[in-house]
Amino acid sequence: MLWSKVFLPTLKDTPQDAEVISHQLMLRAGMIRKVTSGIYNWLPLGLRVLKKIENIVREEMDASGAQEVLMPMVQPKELWEETQRWKKMGPELLRIQDRHERDFCLGPTHEEVITDLVRNNVKSYKELPLNLYQIQTKFRDEVRPRYGVMRGREFLMKDSYSFNINEDSLNESYLLMKETYKKIIERLGLEYKIVKADSGAIGGDASEEFHVLAENGEDTIAVSDSSEFAINSELLLNEGEDINSLQGKPSPDGKGTIEIKKGIEVGHIFQLGKIYADAMKANVLDNEGKSQTLYMGCYGIGISRLVAAAIEQNHDEKGILWPEAIAPYEVNIIAIGFDKDQKIAKAATDFYNELSSMGYEVMLDDRKDGYGIKMKDSELIGVPINVIIGRQYLESNEIELKHRDGLSSIGTVEDITTIFEHYKEK
Ligand code: ATP
Ligand code: MG
Repeated sequence: MLWSKVFLPTLKDTPQDAEVISHQLMLRAGMIRKVTSGIYNWLPLGLRVLKKIENIVREEMDASGAQEVLMPMVQPKELWEETQRWKKMGPELLRIQDRHERDFCLGPTHEEVITDLVRNNVKSYKELPLNLYQIQTKFRDEVRPRYGVMRGREFLMKDSYSFNINEDSLNESYLLMKETYKKIIERLGLEYKIVKADSGAIGGDASEEFHVLAENGEDTIAVSDSSEFAINSELLLNEGEDINSLQGKPSPDGKGTIEIKKGIEVGHIFQLGKIYADAMKANVLDNEGKSQTLYMGCYGIGISRLVAAAIEQNHDEKGILWPEAIAPYEVNIIAIGFDKDQKIAKAATDFYNELSSMGYEVMLDDRKDGYGIKMKDSELIGVPINVIIGRQYLESNEIELKHRDGLSSIGTVEDITTIFEHYKEK
């Protein structure tokens, strides 16, 4: 992509109304623009990252055997009355009416719709276990939308729902999703903790959250420094314990010492048990021909929140440091004197074409600006590798390869191409 052709409105100054670093950087890097409170436009650069995360989530969900569906955003009141949630849910549920004054809501989650789908179409234990997922826009009229897309009102979620004949099967589905979530977050290149959690408004039995560790996280979690033990302060609070009393104490699992960390909840897995299926009469016939209420699990990942969480965990004073798997572009070519020197322009364009044909996602900064501006913009948007073609090229055929993390190396076009070939093999 030629930089001059991309709709990439970067900002020099930190926007006044953005409190946390990810929100500031997403605005400055031209990834998002606010439409109104908690509702955003995704611009090309932001959308590339969002799509990369979406694709990794989709690949791992498919690999787990889950099947993709797409449910509506608009949901009828009648379904929500069956579970009593039309009443129970507060103003977070945005209620609307159609032209006939019938009541609907914008889906904040899809337990009702999916349970209705399954009760009408699955009749026998032989069709189970079934895990259906979607990647879809949710609407929650949050009390305090903030931190940009981290806590939006409209946001992109992957939600999935497993249907099982008994508790053991539910447990298996739950553990499979837990492993799948680990794979997803590891592929994204993020540091995380799995945290025991409160089941909240959705209700149910076992529940764990996946937290990306970051200083600006909204959640406070107690983690052991030498085991997997981790617990959300919300859960401790509900059980009458105070998180501060755990600080520096031995971990309750007997391994290591407790540290208090900040986390961003990016995923949540629940064992719902039979509550929804009971309320909505979702039954199947078991192997003896008897009617059994279904067991359910539900599993969510905040795709748009992950973009912000990745930035909270990976940035410096210059801008974003994308993990390679989700960088919007892999390479940026900066040609000093692109508009003045034909030899440089040709070298840069040839190199751009070559890397593109090798399958890299490349940007060529063909703007009239100087090196300083180009480098600053590149560091801001966080392209992992910059290739600099300038005066040295005219003098000694040399170009420079500069990593976003600070390392650099010098070589001829051929050397650098070889380096890229090595990358591609990896
Ligand atoms: P939170 O406690 O942060 O409000 P939640 O427990 O309400 O989250 P779930 O209902 O479990 O969240 O939703 C699944 C995932 O969707 C969350 O783990 C989070 O990543 C994402 N998510 C939830 N609410 C928002 C929001 N307002 N903006 C962006 N992402 C969200
Ligand atoms: Mg919430």
